Amino acid sequence: GGCLYLVPTPIGNLEDITLRALRLLKEVDYILAEDTRQTIKLLNHFEITTKLYSFHEHSRQEEVERHIENLAAGQTIALVSDAGMPLINDPGHPLVQAALSRDLLVVGLPGANAALTALITSGLSAERFTYYGFFPRQTKEQQALLALVGEREETAIFYESPYRLKQTLAAMAKVFRLDTPIVVAREISKQYEEYLRGSLEELYAYFQNHTVKGEIVLLVEGLAKARAEDAASISALPLKEQVERVM
Ligand code: SAM
Repeated sequence: GGCLYLVPTPIGNLEDITLRALRLLKEVDYILAEDTRQTIKLLNHFEITTKLYSFHEHSRQEEVERHIENLAAGQTIALVSDAGMPLINDPGHPLVQAALSRDLLVVGLPGANAALTALITSGLSAERFTYYGFFPRQTKEQQALLALVGEREETAIFYESPYRLKQTLAAMAKVFRLDTPIVVAREISKQYEEYLRGSLEELYAYFQNHTVKGEIVLLVEGLAKARAEDAASISALPLKEQVERVM
């Protein structure tokens, strides 16, 4: 019967794809990709020749319907995004909803994701956390979100562009304690992977005179918790760049 597979792809290192993902990408009737030019590189690398079509945020309802009809007719489809987990700040939710509403089979595969990888490596508590997606760009939304985050005890995870990191840390420095533990995870699983761990004050100062490139996950220790524990945990660590890695 038909099935919609949600297939995570690497977020940098091409080895971070599962054997099952590779098999399904070979076996499905076709693959839906956020950006076919991006996905074709992955398919070429693994010598996968499955038909590839684009599916993105702006894909129309007619398109969703067409794929749903194909699933209902027994076809198998793999949905992938440019990197990491489909649907996690990536397209796919309308398709999943439509498939489920028609009682069609949806199977999600475990796999690469930037937020979770950053979280477990950060040194911040990974027991409870909230993933907020991209840090908002509008001042009003930023203020509302920071007020909310400030009341929480769990680790906060944001995606952020390297061009906006400095501004975002500045916005945080206006409302959070300066000794709040912060981690910037950059270029996870890639050649220039690094984790910068320190207090909000230290990282703010650091990024004042360091330009950053690449992809970034920004993590903030639970603010309410940081207050309670007097920020004793990782801000006690010296700020340093992690340069040696085992790939
Ligand atoms: N679906 C992806 C996932 O599962 O992580 C996220 C897609 S979102 C459009 C892209 C953002 O994820 C980037 O701007 C960055 O914040 C984060 N990201 C993706 N790959 C990353 C990497 N290798 N290192 C650090 N952050 C990454």
